[in-house]
Amino acid sequence: PKRDANYVPLSPITFLQRAASVYADRTSLVYGNTIFTWRQTYERCCRLAAALQQLGVMKKDVVSVLAPNTPALYEMHFAVPMAGAVLNAINTRLDATAAAGIIKHADPKLLFVDYQYMCLATEVLKGIRDGEAAGSISPLLVVIDDLNKPEETRIGELHYEQLVERGDPEQRPPRSVDDEWDAITLNYTSGTTSSALKGVVYSHRGAYLSTVGLLLQWGVGSEPVYLWSLPMFHCNGWTLTWGVAARGGVNVCIRTPAADDMYAALSAHGVTHMCGAPVLLNILVEARREPLLHAVEVLTGGAPPPAALLERVERLGFNVTHAYGMTEATGSAMVCEWRERWNALPTSTRGRLKARQGVSALSLADAAVVNNIDTMQSVPRDGTALGEIMLRGNSIMKGYYKDTAATASAFRGGWFLTGDVGVVHPDGYVEIKDRSKDVIISGGENISSVDVEMALYQHHAVREAAVVAMPHPHWGETPCAFVALEPGFSCLGEVTEEDIILFCRDKMPHFMVPRKVVFVDKLPTNSTGKVRKIELRQRLHGCSQS
Ligand code: ADP
Repeated sequence: PKRDANYVPLSPITFLQRAASVYADRTSLVYGNTIFTWRQTYERCCRLAAALQQLGVMKKDVVSVLAPNTPALYEMHFAVPMAGAVLNAINTRLDATAAAGIIKHADPKLLFVDYQYMCLATEVLKGIRDGEAAGSISPLLVVIDDLNKPEETRIGELHYEQLVERGDPEQRPPRSVDDEWDAITLNYTSGTTSSALKGVVYSHRGAYLSTVGLLLQWGVGSEPVYLWSLPMFHCNGWTLTWGVAARGGVNVCIRTPAADDMYAALSAHGVTHMCGAPVLLNILVEARREPLLHAVEVLTGGAPPPAALLERVERLGFNVTHAYGMTEATGSAMVCEWRERWNALPTSTRGRLKARQGVSALSLADAAVVNNIDTMQSVPRDGTALGEIMLRGNSIMKGYYKDTAATASAFRGGWFLTGDVGVVHPDGYVEIKDRSKDVIISGGENISSVDVEMALYQHHAVREAAVVAMPHPHWGETPCAFVALEPGFSCLGEVTEEDIILFCRDKMPHFMVPRKVVFVDKLPTNSTGKVRKIELRQRLHGCSQS
């Protein structure tokens, strides 16, 4: 396409360059005793980018990292693309086999490893070396010491701080972005629905637009104080790695989102914003009874948050925004934009409205809920007709890394098929009812497992609930509930299978009521905290109910 003279490729790197000029002396990052300003963060990123180039990192090379929320991981979100390379932040909760699978597939030139994950990295690299033709995949290892106690670890070939020292800061920006469609990051999906490894590639353009869109829809003003409770390795911290720079905010880094550390950070630094999946909201409510001293904005998503949980979190003084997204959509695909008039509604109605996934992300051209992906016929806005959610726009991934077949089948006529099933309410807000693979079809009726789960969560003794299809000789499938009870309750005494079934009968049509309730101590979850329904279905395999 013809480009005007004023055309500049979109890239989130510009957020950092601007922060270094506009917010130069403001704090950019706090991590224990370590504090940086935006001028320093920019300089450190320039130095690291230059050092990467000196090490021979070329345009489009992959640079992987295994680290919790530390300054190094934050800086790499800018420095790696500034060197023209592609950042691959690996989930630190994976086991050695899964992490090795990613490294084999991504084939990074360098692997940065936080000192705490050296054992995991050593195991991963050994596994690769034993299984591969010698030397075919052998990234150079860079150890990230703890900035607060660097003397504790001195092993490995190269060290992060040495690279930062070594790079020439005058070489800024080391490599400018000449095509906004170039890859910026490579994120592997958590594989809740399939075990196939899929590396999602984001473009500079998509990352830029997603970041700006989310900041607007979440209403983030300038100079926020952002607590890193969400791992940066989840879709680049839902784009807030770049977003905090765009707003000249303070990054408060903590290594793990333990309740004590989060609450301590909230009061010590005057945190204004944080993110987390519903499981993190659970941690917040379980650890505290008295309200917060100042309001904190929380963005939640990644799994459906029960309305009852949203109400409990808000009672503590957190102001929750709910978003829906996926790795392939560069973070958020929909946001439950809050309407002023809803503030006057009763608490339970507000909780129900907020539990909906909402309206299309600003960075998308369009979102549709269709009942037939071939005809693209949209479902009526009646809050009951189920359809598959499709997305279109610049923030959708470029594709799956080295997998043209999977990329081709993820799209239909330019639309990305999410595999999520939802309804559209009369006000245009979408509510997800299931993943297409998780819908239970009983006697020809579609049952939303999420609807049944949300009802189960209303039971005072239910801590976790997941509903899956169970084979049935007459109905084809019927719902089976897996339930973990709150501490102090036992399925042998206080709460029985029959109690749960009777409780559901009051809340839903008969055909939706679980036929069977299996009590478990804890639901099986994947590395991102999502319930592994595949595993629950496997447990039920061959089990039929009359
Ligand atoms: P995976 O598909 O491997 O779990 P993702 O982390 O990309 O990887 O998960 C995206 C999926 O998570 C979505 O397709 C959707 O099913 C679910 N999800 C994300 N956010 C929400 C939400 N707010 N409400 C309901 N489901 C959600």
